[in-house]
Amino acid sequence: MRLLIMGPPGAGKGTQAAQVSQRYGIPAVSTGDIFRAMKTADTPLAQQVRDIMDSGGYISDDITNDIVAQRLAEVDCVGGFLLDGYPRTPAQVETLDAFLAGRGEALDAVIVLVADQDEVVQRLLKRAATDGRADDREETIRVRQQVYADQTAPLLEIFRNRDLLVEVDGLGPVTEVSQRLFDALDAKTGGAPAVSVDG
Ligand code: ADP
Repeated sequence: MRLLIMGPPGAGKGTQAAQVSQRYGIPAVSTGDIFRAMKTADTPLAQQVRDIMDSGGYISDDITNDIVAQRLAEVDCVGGFLLDGYPRTPAQVETLDAFLAGRGEALDAVIVLVADQDEVVQRLLKRAATDGRADDREETIRVRQQVYADQTAPLLEIFRNRDLLVEVDGLGPVTEVSQRLFDALDAKTGGAPAVSVDG
């Protein structure tokens, strides 16, 4: 299964990505997590990543595309993957398309977590209080919402036109959202994952 999960910052992509990853036995690849791990290093690239992320903007397409291509080339992605936080720009969509075409692969579905803007801002402010993520300050949250609306939300139309979208209401308890998501995904892709008889 090859999947994307999209939605505005704070919609719960990371949380739901973990559930999908477990259920379908595919790795969840989060560009946000990769960049957060990268930015702790003491290199000029790490400094650049840190500055951009902390301001709420997007890392350049060149850097992002390289990192994703490297990650998807790893052996655990051979049987499928769930990309969380990528693609976020038209150039990233093009690069992903070319990458998959080069391997004779295609996406099975694009999950969209739909959530009200006020709700997601409240969630991020709450996360800021508990997790201390550097980009969860109120001002940065606004920038991230705006950047998403300007640059990433329009990409949904591309995937809608390819009939890949699976839109799921992201509000409510985590397990309820997961159940809605699994049901919608199974309906789209033609069934639940096989369960092994001895397992
Ligand atoms: P959220 O969706 O809640 O903002 P993420 O963890 O997905 O959180 O991303 C955090 C930050 O990492 C983004 O604001 C951006 O700076 C950077 N980032 C993640 N994915 C990408 C991407 N595909 N292209 C460019 N920048 C990215």
